[in-house]
Amino acid sequence: MNENLRPALDTIRNGGRVAVLTGAGISAESGIPTFRGQDGYWTVGSREYHPQELATWAMFSRHPERVWPWYLYRRSICANAQPNVGHDALVRLEKHLRDRFTLITQNVDGLHIRAGNSLERTYEIHGNLHRRRCAESCCPEQWAIPEGVSTPKRNGTLANDDPALLRCPRCDAWTRPHVLWFDECYDEEKYRYESSLNVAVQADLLIVVGTSGATNLPMQVGAIAARRGAAIIDINPTENPFSQLAQRIPSGVVLTGSAGTILPTLVDHLIHGSDDA
Ligand code: NAD
Ligand code: ZN
Repeated sequence: MNENLRPALDTIRNGGRVAVLTGAGISAESGIPTFRGQDGYWTVGSREYHPQELATWAMFSRHPERVWPWYLYRRSICANAQPNVGHDALVRLEKHLRDRFTLITQNVDGLHIRAGNSLERTYEIHGNLHRRRCAESCCPEQWAIPEGVSTPKRNGTLANDDPALLRCPRCDAWTRPHVLWFDECYDEEKYRYESSLNVAVQADLLIVVGTSGATNLPMQVGAIAARRGAAIIDINPTENPFSQLAQRIPSGVVLTGSAGTILPTLVDHLIHGSDDA
């Protein structure tokens, strides 16, 4: 492995804290499309919607019946997908580091938890599409998607019984997917905003995997970690704002390639390399 990884190894050997920030790229090898490819689009009637239009409160508040099928379809893709070797590597890293490890994920697919990362140390900062909550915020509770809700095909619609099944059990308003939409703000209660910033402040090493850096909190996490002198490793097949950040700092490393190829080797190296001091 890369000699430039020395600061990362030293961090782990010296009892430093590690933050891992993941995006849709880590789940691409589990067969879950990122938002960039053709699979990200959704057609209603003859119109194509981009995620940036569909994944908004503005759209849901006017057309919940158009937004829900997209989530139910994506949820079925995620439910049928399996965690891959990249997810597994992060489970090994958490087992090794325990409370020195935090995983901040933008993914809503739930695969990190299914792979075995702990709920306690995994911050799902954009939510989880296997859960729903009251669209009118009548209560803070979250619920699973009820049995019996249909699984729309790609570009499909809700079944007749779905709207009733997707009502809030408390106030009978629509429930909504528990995800952060493009026109909404982060908060601590639902999305662990302040906790994530704290993790960035305390991190001695930040590992970024498979994100295009198009969202706000991840960029803040990167900027804070860099400003405080953390080592940064970016893993991505393509250049992105985090690889550019890593290139600008002395202890930054860019590993160009897929998460499934790079992450297992990197984690082995971080775990075993730091053992033979
Ligand atoms: P993105 O779609 O904007 O970017 C994906 C990134 O992953 C790109 O930089 C791409 O180069 C990289 N990538 C592709 N294949 C990879 C691989 N095999 N290994 C490593 N990297 C790879 O994703 P984003 O930055 O996470 O942001 C988009 C938003 O989309 C997030 O808010 C997220 O909630 C949502 N989203 C989530 C999922 C999911 O939960 N799996 C899927 C699609 C979108
Ligand atoms: Zn309600």
